[in-house]
Amino acid sequence: MPRVRKIKNRRRVRISGPLCVYCGDTATTDEHFPPAACGGYGLILPACLECNSLAGTEWPFDFLRRCEHVQGGLRSRYRRVLKWEDGHDLVGVDYSLADMVLQWRKLKILINKRIAWDAMLYIASIDHSNDFVRIVADNGTFKIDEGESPSLLED
Ligand SMILES: [Zn+2]
Repeated sequence: MPRVRKIKNRRRVRISGPLCVYCGDTATTDEHFPPAACGGYGLILPACLECNSLAGTEWPFDFLRRCEHVQGGLRSRYRRVLKWEDGHDLVGVDYSLADMVLQWRKLKILINKRIAWDAMLYIASIDHSNDFVRIVADNGTFKIDEGESPSLLED
């Protein structure tokens, strides 16, 4: 028999997953949405340290804009890597220089992958109880609807 508890009794609902919701890198921190400074209600999401600190308190109640902000921050932080042209011919290039170029290419691929990460798709795959959509309205604006069937089933 599943236990029933109400969302209004849960100050923060945790959605657990191995990857950062913002970029898909390994998650090592708890991201509070909205930020902890905004009060006790909301979600705890997995995030990497870099995205968590980039998110800060920007767009505290609008998750999609918050995602855009974080990805914009990554784009800006790694702009030199992203501008790197892949076409350089490494034939005859000194080994240590060629190695550096290959590291930059790898980093560029990684950063592009992080920036293209689909936060909503990932959250849908780890949010088995639909807590995210219950707490965040369709347009990404934070909202708790305590008046309407707040019960959650738990196993
Ligand atoms: Zn991240």
